[in-house]
Amino acid sequence: MSLDPADLFASDYASARRAFLRAAETRGARVTSHPLPCRDAETDRELAIDTARLGPAEPASLLVVSSGTHGVEGFSGSALQLLLLAEAPALELPADMALLLVHAVNPWGFAAGRRVNENNVDLNRNFLRHPEDHEPRPDYEALYPHLNPEVLDEEHDRRAAQALAAFARAHGGARIQEVLSVGQHDHPTGLQYGGCAPEPSNLLLRELARAELRGIPRIAWIDVHTGLGPWGEAELITELEPQDPVYARGRAWYGGAFRSTRAGESVSAPLSGVIESGLTEEADPASEFTPFTAEFGTVTADRIFWALRADNWLHHHGTPDSERAQAIRSELLEVFRPADRKWRRALLDVGFEIVRKARAGLAG
Ligand SMILES: [Zn+2]
Repeated sequence: MSLDPADLFASDYASARRAFLRAAETRGARVTSHPLPCRDAETDRELAIDTARLGPAEPASLLVVSSGTHGVEGFSGSALQLLLLAEAPALELPADMALLLVHAVNPWGFAAGRRVNENNVDLNRNFLRHPEDHEPRPDYEALYPHLNPEVLDEEHDRRAAQALAAFARAHGGARIQEVLSVGQHDHPTGLQYGGCAPEPSNLLLRELARAELRGIPRIAWIDVHTGLGPWGEAELITELEPQDPVYARGRAWYGGAFRSTRAGESVSAPLSGVIESGLTEEADPASEFTPFTAEFGTVTADRIFWALRADNWLHHHGTPDSERAQAIRSELLEVFRPADRKWRRALLDVGFEIVRKARAGLAG
C-alpha cells in the first residue's frame, strides 16, 4: 500500500513537530531545536523552532525551506518539509549543496490555529526597524471599527461590508487589499499588527540565519505560505523591485510565476517588514542570496478576510470554548489549511517542483 501524500498534513502542531523530528532523524539530518520563551496556550508544552540540515558542513550552496511564519499556515509548509525529507534522493542535491528545513517559525500560532503569534503580531510584518520604519496608516485608522469590531453580529458585519465596499469604490480594489494587508504598528489588538519591537521568533530566526548561512556563496530561502491566489496554484513572491538581481534570478528559475509586489504583478499587495528583509540583513553580504515567499492559493481573499476578522474578535472579545468559537476556529483552519485532499496533493506536487527548481537554479 503506498502512502497518500495528503496524509503528510498533521492534525495539530504537536504531531507535526513529532513527525518532522522523526523524519529528520530517519534521514540522518543534523537536528537542532531552538526553544522560544512562550508556551503552547492549550497544553503548556515547550514551543520551538526546529531545524534539520542535510549535506556538507561547508557547502557551495544552501537551499532553505521554512514553514509556519504565519502559524496556522504551517500545516502546509510542514507537510512539504516531511515530503522533502522522505523524498530527499529525488531532489538530486549536488554533493556540494546542503538543505536546511526550518520548522514552525511561529509555533505558538501553529499550535493555537492562529496566523499571528503569542503577542498578536503578524511576524511577516515584524522584520523592519522599530519604530523608524512604522508608517502612519490613515485608511486603516478610518476603517478600524469595521476591521476590529468589539461586537460580532450580523448588523456589525453588514455595516463593515458597506464601509469596505464604499472604500473600494472610491479608491479601487488594489488599495483596499493594501489597507487590509500592509500591516500596522499602532493597534496591538487589531488585525495586521506588525509589533513594536522585534518578536522572539524574529530574533531567533536572525540568530539561526547568521549561524546557518555564514560563508556560503549561494543561498535560496523559500518561506512557505498559504491563502492568496487561485485554489491549489502557487506564486513565488518578492517585495523587491524588478531591477533587483533577486528578481532576475527568480524569473530565470520560475519564469512568470515569480512576481514582484512592487511591480503590481503579484496576488499580494506590497508589504513591509517581511521575513525576507530580515534574512537579507543577516545573510553574508558576499553571498548571492535569493529569498522569496511561496504562496499557495486557497479560497477567495474576501472569505479569508472575514475569517481573520472573526478570529481576531474571538481572541480579544469572544468566549474561547463556546460553540461559536469552534465555528470561527474551524473556518480559519479551512481557509489556510483546506481539508480537500486534492488540494493537499496539489500543494505537495507543486511545492516539491518549486524546491527542485530552486535546486537547479542554485546549482547554476
Ligand atoms: Zn502567510
